[in-house]
Amino acid sequence: MKVAIVGAGLSGLCCAYELEKNGIKPVIFEKKYAIGDVLEYTICTLNNFNEFRGSVMRYFKKNYDIKITPINPLNKVVMKSNNKKTVIKGNMGHVFIRGTDKESLDKQIAGYFKPNIIFDTYVNILDIKDDFDYVVCASGELSTAKKLSICKPTLNTYTRISNVLGDFDPNTLIMWFDNECIKNGYGYLLPYNRKRASLVLALNEITHEEIEYYWDIFQQKQNFKYNITINKDVEHDMGFIDPVKIDNILLVGNAAGFIDSFMGFGTISAIESGVLAARSIIYNLDYNELMKPIKEYIKLKHEYRIMVNRMDNKDFDRILTFLNMPFIKQMLYKNPFYRASYGAYIIKVFNKIMEDKDKNIVP
Ligand SMILES: Cc1cc2nc3c(=O)[nH]c(=O)nc-3n(C[C@H](O)[C@H](O)[C@H](O)COP(=O)(O)OP(=O)(O)OC[C@H]3O[C@@H](n4cnc5c(N)ncnc54)[C@H](O)[C@@H]3O)c2cc1C
Repeated sequence: MKVAIVGAGLSGLCCAYELEKNGIKPVIFEKKYAIGDVLEYTICTLNNFNEFRGSVMRYFKKNYDIKITPINPLNKVVMKSNNKKTVIKGNMGHVFIRGTDKESLDKQIAGYFKPNIIFDTYVNILDIKDDFDYVVCASGELSTAKKLSICKPTLNTYTRISNVLGDFDPNTLIMWFDNECIKNGYGYLLPYNRKRASLVLALNEITHEEIEYYWDIFQQKQNFKYNITINKDVEHDMGFIDPVKIDNILLVGNAAGFIDSFMGFGTISAIESGVLAARSIIYNLDYNELMKPIKEYIKLKHEYRIMVNRMDNKDFDRILTFLNMPFIKQMLYKNPFYRASYGAYIIKVFNKIMEDKDKNIVP
């Protein structure tokens, strides 16, 4: 069977790994000269945010026979708004690296086999689709879905990634919610170790010029004294894709819209959809059906984003006060039966009421 994968990112590599374990050797086309993002940065998974609520390492090992190793456990999450702060402690999640370092997630997965990657090769999927039995779109962006007219855009995000030097707790994630300097988004600091961290600002629906403006106020307001080493801005479109398999093309990871617009989490879905796309090719399974739980999860998380984008700084203060209440902490973070998507069903009703209210306002 002839299979091509476009993109040697997380989803593409996981798809190739699963195919190879089952005797199919795909060809991977990668536009860059190497595996991994040129800029290094930290990412995390949060146990309370996963639908399976628990260690992502155990989940991947058990379900997909994929071993991933974090650089640090996360045992504290600090959330800050204009006037409030809440601290949640416990087994919160794990920190991983993206980039070209040998510890990066991409390099870890590529290290388990000998992928057949053709580097420095930009491919238009529609040009090659007739030369293969299957083409897996793992490009990390929505252009193919848009060309196929299967994309309903939801949000445009600008993310500024910087690496900073200072004095950090490597097991703590700090997050900021403040519309004055972080319009419709969030900022976070996620350390590699005691001396180095990624400082990131993710903003929705702004222009490229505006990111400079918000970045400056963010730094001034938080009074950062860090030595900033590298900067990179990434523009990202998000949207709902349906169907995620069309003819012989299967879309995986971000290319299938599997990144949550609330917090920008996409690592787990990228790995999961990559492996499941491979299994659907191997066992002739219905890929659209297999992806239904991920699609539903992404849609529910978007309800959180719609709600948060309506909030002002007073609302953020109120939310953090609420999240700081011992009973609420117990219910949301210590209760093994609670799922983040449960709250989304209530928020969905709230968003609908607000939407109808907006429509009825006479200008
Ligand atoms: C700053 C930042 C922080 C993040 N933090 C988190 C986090 O904390 N937790 C989390 O879960 N997720 C996080 N994410 C999201 C997560 O990294 C992505 O969801 C995940 O990497 C998606 O994997 P992918 O395989 O779909 O795409 P990618 O990993 O982006 O890979 C796509 C690959 O395709 C290649 N490519 C693209 N087009 C072509 C083409 N036409 N031809 C050939 N090659 C092509 C690209 O060069 C790239 O190598 C973060 C993302 C960013 C940018």
